[in-house]
Amino acid sequence: MPRPLQATIHLDALHHNLGLLRARAQNARLWAVVKANAYGHGIERVFEGLRAADGFALLDLEEAQRVRELGWRGPILLLEGVFEARDLEWCSRLDLWHTVHCDAQIDMLSRHKTQVGHRVFLKMNSGMNRLGFAPQRFRAAWSRLNALPQVGEVSLMTHFSDADGERGIAHQLTVFQQNAQDLPGERSLANSAALLRHHLDADVMADWVRPGIALFGSSPDHPLHSLSDWGLRPTMSLHSRLIAVQSLAPGDSVGYASSYRASSHQRMGVVAAGYADGYPRQCPTGTPVLVSGVRTRTLGRVSMDMLAVDLEPVIQAGAAADIGASVTLWGQDPGGALLSIDEPAAAAGTIGYELMCALAPRVPVVTAA
Ligand SMILES: *Cc1c(COP(=O)(O)O)cnc(C)c1O
Repeated sequence: MPRPLQATIHLDALHHNLGLLRARAQNARLWAVVKANAYGHGIERVFEGLRAADGFALLDLEEAQRVRELGWRGPILLLEGVFEARDLEWCSRLDLWHTVHCDAQIDMLSRHKTQVGHRVFLKMNSGMNRLGFAPQRFRAAWSRLNALPQVGEVSLMTHFSDADGERGIAHQLTVFQQNAQDLPGERSLANSAALLRHHLDADVMADWVRPGIALFGSSPDHPLHSLSDWGLRPTMSLHSRLIAVQSLAPGDSVGYASSYRASSHQRMGVVAAGYADGYPRQCPTGTPVLVSGVRTRTLGRVSMDMLAVDLEPVIQAGAAADIGASVTLWGQDPGGALLSIDEPAAAAGTIGYELMCALAPRVPVVTAA
C-alpha cells in the first residue's frame, strides 16, 4: 500500500470560486492568475475548473505553452513580460499578451519582427517599487510604445502592495489615475484582495481583474476575513491517515527535542505527513488539524515524514481515533468539515500562498470533480 498521503484538487470549488469572483467584479473581465504552476495546483489539473475565465495570466513561457497545449485559444498574459528578445518570438507564435514594465522591453519590441501587432499591458509603478514605469515617465513610455509598428493595442496596469492590509490602495489608485488620465486603453488593477474588498468601486474593478489566491481557496486578508467569510471554498486538500497511536503518561514527551510534554494521560496519533511533503516545520504545537473530521491540534515538532496530533478531542467527539483514521492537514474533510489552508499557514507565520506553492513533488495528487 502506498503511503496514505494525498493531495486533492477540487474542480467544483475552483469553478465556484471563479463564479463568485466574476459576479463580484461586476462587468470586468477576469484574468485567472495561474503563475507558479497554478499556485502549486498544477495548470493541467485546474484548467477545466477555470476555463470560464476570460484569460490566463502567468509568468513563464513554458507555462504559457502548456495552456495553449490544453487547447486554450483565448488571451494569455505574461505578467512580467519578456526577459530577453527571443521571448518575443514566442509571444508572436503563441499569440501572448505581455506586460511592458521597463525601457529595455520597449527596446526589444522595437527590434522585433512580427506581422501582427502585439497586445501589451504597460505597467506603472504606482508605489510598490517592484516593476513598472515611474508615474512621471508613464506617458512618455506610452507614446513610445504606441508609436511602434510591432504594437497593436496598449492597455494599462498597476499592482497594489497593500490591498490586503491596513494601508490599503487609495494612495496608489490616486497616483495611477492622475498619471494615466486621458490615456486610451483598457485598465487592470485589482488582485484578489482588491477585488474582494473594493468590488463596488468601478475604477478598481476597471476592465480586467487579476485574482489568483482567491481562486485557489485562500483568503487574501486572513485573519481579518476567513475563506468562508468571503464565500470561497478550498481548492486543495491535503489528506493522510493515522499510522500509529500512542498513550502518553504525564511527563511523557513527543517527537524531536521533546518539545511537547503531556501533563496528563493522553492519546496521541502519528500522521503520515511531514515537512518533506510541504507541511511546514514551523507549525508549532497547537496548529489546527482535522482527525475523522474533528478539529484538534498538532503536538510537538513536525518531522520529515510524520507529525503528531492530539486525539483527546476526537475521542470525546466519539469519532474514529485509531490507526487508519482520516486526517485533513488542510482543505475539506471527506465528511464535509473544513480547515482553511490559511490556518496552518498562519500558525507557521506565513500565508496560504506559500503552503500551496510548496506542496512537495513526492505527494501524489488526484483531481476530484
Ligand atoms: C500574482 C499577481 C496577481 C494575483 O495576486 P493574488 O494576490 O494572488 O490575487 C495579480 N497581478 C500580478 C501582477 C501578480 O503578480
